Amino acid sequence: MKKIAILGSTGSIGTQTLEVARENGDIEIVGLAAGSNIRLLEEQIREFHPRLAAVWSKEKAKELGERIADTDIRVAAGMDGLLEVSTLADVEILVTAVVGMIGIRPTIEAICAGKDIALANKETLVTAGHIIMPLAKEKQVSILPVDSEHSAIFQSLQGNESRAVHKILLTASGGPFRGKKEEDLLDIRVEDALKHPNWSMGQKITIDSSTMVNKGLEVIEAKWLFGVDVDRVQVVVQPQSIIHSMVEYVDGAVMAQLGTPDMKLPIQYALYYPKRRDLPGERVDFWSLGKLDFEKPDMDTFYGLKLAYEAGRAGGSLPTVFNAANERAVRLFLDRQIKYLEIVEIIEDCMQAHQNIENPTLRQILDTEAATYDRINSRR
Ligand code: NDP
Ligand code: MG
Repeated sequence: MKKIAILGSTGSIGTQTLEVARENGDIEIVGLAAGSNIRLLEEQIREFHPRLAAVWSKEKAKELGERIADTDIRVAAGMDGLLEVSTLADVEILVTAVVGMIGIRPTIEAICAGKDIALANKETLVTAGHIIMPLAKEKQVSILPVDSEHSAIFQSLQGNESRAVHKILLTASGGPFRGKKEEDLLDIRVEDALKHPNWSMGQKITIDSSTMVNKGLEVIEAKWLFGVDVDRVQVVVQPQSIIHSMVEYVDGAVMAQLGTPDMKLPIQYALYYPKRRDLPGERVDFWSLGKLDFEKPDMDTFYGLKLAYEAGRAGGSLPTVFNAANERAVRLFLDRQIKYLEIVEIIEDCMQAHQNIENPTLRQILDTEAATYDRINSRR
């Protein structure tokens, strides 16, 4: 039995990870953590019998404790709860599927405790990659990508020398507003932005995909995972989401991973790496597909992607500002407090106002996050 714990078990990636565990039958779930959805967490607890469950909300944690009083499963709360789940004895792999940079401390603690990380939580790597990657090397733990593009890159790197990589071709669907110009985006409603053409995902990443900020975060995520400058990561729009990303080598060979859009493939690949397991589901049918399209991304309209390159190039605390401003702005948009185009305007404003800190410590990253939130609040 492979022993794993999941942060964010009630979300899109979390529930699909549990599906993979259910379908394979040889994964033991030792710990689960969620934000506040204790109804679903209780179902998961009763099915998978973890040793420990954590809930961010202290109130909900108490309520869950009462609801599962008939079991011997312990409930923990808040950041302490997340850290406990991340460092549980015997866990081999921690699946980080929380959304946002709340994942930084649990990820660092898990690495220190020697756990391999199946990483979905890209915001953590974007803001703290300079701490996490060297730490993982020092502790000899693997960071296994779950994000579909990075899994595709990881798969395309197998059997090749990483120093022979010329560049990374990061594919993007282009989201629901591909081909639109700024004037078409003035009155976008939350409902419109939540309609992704190819993937069904959590709300925050779905909005990020529509602004292409998600692709920007992924450019920086690729920089850390694969040790390349952001200028060697080229975004290619591939509207059918069949090619999940590619690697171009120095001899001009391009290796890619293709498949129907299904997050269970990258999740399962990360959990069983380097082995491949059966995975039922739709297959690519090239006869009916007929063709694949490619486009250059429109970085003038979707300039959040351009800002991500700037942040990734500068490094330091600027990617934290990019990410934190986006996290807060997306929240405000989902709460219908700001207009769609203000999301990226807010990111740009916060980045312009920031004094970059080189090689920030964890404390400085968290302070930068707080200062970014303060700036956004004070302007409202
Ligand atoms: P969801 O919003 O669907 O799920 C987020 C999960 O995190 C939920 O279980 C939520 O709990 C939990 N959570 C949120 N805040 C806290 C907290 N403070 N403490 C503990 N748990 C918390 O997100 P996704 O699954 O879509 O995304 C998760 C991560 O994976 C993101 O970083 C995203 O960018 C990345 N990713 C997602 C993909 C996808 O297909 N969904 C693809 C590639 C990457 P609750 O339900 O109780 O609120
Ligand atoms: Mg992705």
